[in-house]
Amino acid sequence: MSEKKYYPTIGLEVHAELKTNTKMFCRCKNDPDEEKPNSNVCPVCMGHPGTLPTINKEAVKHVLRMGVAVGGTIADFTEFDRKNYFYPDIPKGYQISQYKYPLISGGELSGVALTRIHLEEDTATSKHDEGDYSLVDFNRSSVPLMELVTEPVIHDAETAGKFAKELQLLLRYLGAGDANMEKGEMRVEANISISEDPKVFGTKVEVKNLNSFKAVEKAIAYETERHRLLLENGEKISQETRGWDENTGKTFSQRKKEDSHDYRYFPDPDLPKLKLREVEEFLPENIRATLPELPWQKRKRYESHFGIKKDDVDMLVSNAHLADFFEKAVNKKENAQTISNYLLSDVVSIQKGNNTNSFGSLIPKNLSEIAEMIGDNLLSSRGAKDLIAILYTNGGETKETAEKNGLIQKSDPEALKAVLAEIINLNPKVVEEYKAGKVASIQFLVGQGMKATKGSANPKMLQDILITLLS
Ligand code: ADP
Ligand code: MG
Ligand code: ZN
Repeated sequence: MSEKKYYPTIGLEVHAELKTNTKMFCRCKNDPDEEKPNSNVCPVCMGHPGTLPTINKEAVKHVLRMGVAVGGTIADFTEFDRKNYFYPDIPKGYQISQYKYPLISGGELSGVALTRIHLEEDTATSKHDEGDYSLVDFNRSSVPLMELVTEPVIHDAETAGKFAKELQLLLRYLGAGDANMEKGEMRVEANISISEDPKVFGTKVEVKNLNSFKAVEKAIAYETERHRLLLENGEKISQETRGWDENTGKTFSQRKKEDSHDYRYFPDPDLPKLKLREVEEFLPENIRATLPELPWQKRKRYESHFGIKKDDVDMLVSNAHLADFFEKAVNKKENAQTISNYLLSDVVSIQKGNNTNSFGSLIPKNLSEIAEMIGDNLLSSRGAKDLIAILYTNGGETKETAEKNGLIQKSDPEALKAVLAEIINLNPKVVEEYKAGKVASIQFLVGQGMKATKGSANPKMLQDILITLLS
């Protein structure tokens, strides 16, 4: 193998369906969960001749909020263009998109510089899985679709995956979209090239159909390696569009540059041009005032204010239900990590077991009190786990429930001494071993002590008492 080093470069293009009441250019319902084909359709979104589109203001606003959130610039002037091509899922013969004047230019997300964010319409969906014919469902036709394009400034698969996750999170925080990749609500295309000289771009290949974060990362890794092998063998990389096959874990050629489309973009004469500056609510400062706390702001607040582990911060920031519960449960900073531990391990595993996001009958106050009780040595970690499971199912006052279920940790040294004296009497052989120098034998006695106290004793305390009794 040669010693040559290659520098990968990656730029992403991400489409996200926006959450609006109605579609992009008509009054049909925008309902991604509608299962009956062709229920939410009208002459406009079915592309009948002679119909006129009107712009959905909410969709424009979603994109402007995304743009301001990432520090991009709102266009003074913007317009919609026709992107001309023929396909059964685009019956007008063109898609309404934006070309020269996108709504947003620039900005940065997850450390990645953005080129633009624009607004277009989604296509209908074709089905080819029955009979010797195809079916077209127009429910998705003309659903507002945001397209975000990054600069070619990413250099590894992991950064690309991280970027896509942060984008999904931002869309959700802003209520702009649900962005479920497996439902096609967010779709990533990765442009990949490699070069021996970091200052010169290699030939790029575009990979489509990436519908999971794993797919994004795996496809980039696969493609980078494919390019490397080609170059090592003195072969050329052809500029092309490739698909990702989840089953084989490989990309495959879809179309070469030679037959790439010439879309003949031109401004859509049916739609008005927009002077965004003239719309009061679209002024950057007014848009900014509508933004909630953003993921990275929340991350920073959790790190500085609660001082919890970085992995915990990430998990909480990416899950609004958990974060909300956490914030309500934290009564004081010193308890934040303990609360986070029990919430993210025990509560989450109960939720997973029940296939739900629900907290059952557990309330935030339970977790604050459990943290307090642990701090006061009233609960062992085993006891806390059991108590959480009981409260999740039955609810109840924290301490009372712990008492009723015998979970209060026995930390009265006199009581424990009595229990341990009995255990010493019952296990003369182990005691002998310990005295003969087999220090580890004491763990057996600690175990017996835990058993005798139904796990409610503090093991460290048991060990200390045993050492005193046996010396
Ligand atoms: P095209 O005209 O082929 O669509 P663009 O210049 O519009 O190409 O870029 C589309 C995407 O490809 C962007 O995300 C951009 O960052 C990325 N890109 C451009 N050049 C390269 C390259 N040499 N390697 C990897 N990505 C690239
Ligand atoms: Mg492109
Ligand atoms: Zn319609």
